Amino acid sequence: INDGVVAEGQSSLAEGDTTGREPVIRFDAVTKKFGDVTVLDALDFEVRKGEKVTIIGPSGSGKSTVLRILMTLEQIDGGVIHVAGKPLWHEARNGTLVPAGEEHLRMMRKEMGMVFQQFNLFPHMTVRRNITEAPMHVLGLSRAEAVARADEYLELVGLSDQADKFPSQLSGGQQQRVAIARALAMRPGIMLFDEPTSALDPELVGEVLNVIQRLAGEHDLTMLLVTHEMAFARQISDRVCFFDKGRIVEQGPPEQIMSAPREARTQAFLSGCL
Ligand code: ADP
Ligand code: MG
Repeated sequence: INDGVVAEGQSSLAEGDTTGREPVIRFDAVTKKFGDVTVLDALDFEVRKGEKVTIIGPSGSGKSTVLRILMTLEQIDGGVIHVAGKPLWHEARNGTLVPAGEEHLRMMRKEMGMVFQQFNLFPHMTVRRNITEAPMHVLGLSRAEAVARADEYLELVGLSDQADKFPSQLSGGQQQRVAIARALAMRPGIMLFDEPTSALDPELVGEVLNVIQRLAGEHDLTMLLVTHEMAFARQISDRVCFFDKGRIVEQGPPEQIMSAPREARTQAFLSGCL
């Protein structure tokens, strides 16, 4: 069925392709159900290396599920997913498919960093400790190496002076910037953002978007972002995908999707009617 490698030239260039580079995320006919509710309906979806893709769509359309599946926080009911050319759930051995072991899942998770709507920092750890934990325990860095790395990413998000504080002592915007630094400290090739500013007071949204905008300037970093910040999505995305009922209704360059959507569902969503 599949040999664990996305063969070159196997897929015609996707409609939404904007880079000409190889796919690093690839969903083939992926189905996900919760009970008898089909949340993803034979979804085909590709993101290419370095591409910045935004997913928009009404609540309940399956946006978070796509990201949670990638982080292997949810299983799937059908189809195949490849990340960086390797199957997410199964690895091929002697031409047969076997369930992915813990080792394989750990390797796949290392490829991706995720930032959630709720910042999910460890409340009992300082900001710096929040960032050093995974590099030490998952990547095997020494404490000194992990601290150096944490301080590097704290500087990137403009929080060098907050390293010794606890999450509860920070504003929501600062906490979310720590969460971004924490994800980056694993040096993932792919960053996933699930409505990273939706839980923030309006005056704190800008500081988080500024950090994400800076990341969007990184040529090799692949970004998949779910957001309701339309102006921002338009600014930073190579491609916008409109999701509805577990399918991609329409996708393309942000100018086209946002200024001249072809589908009635997209038009209704963008005019605030969904
Ligand atoms: P979105 O992020 O686009 O708002 P989600 O991916 O969170 O949508 O959810 C898609 C659908 O799946 C919704 O109908 C939601 O109620 C349902 N769903 C999500 N997670 C679960 C779960 N753990 N158990 C049952 N239903 C779920
Ligand atoms: Mg969601």
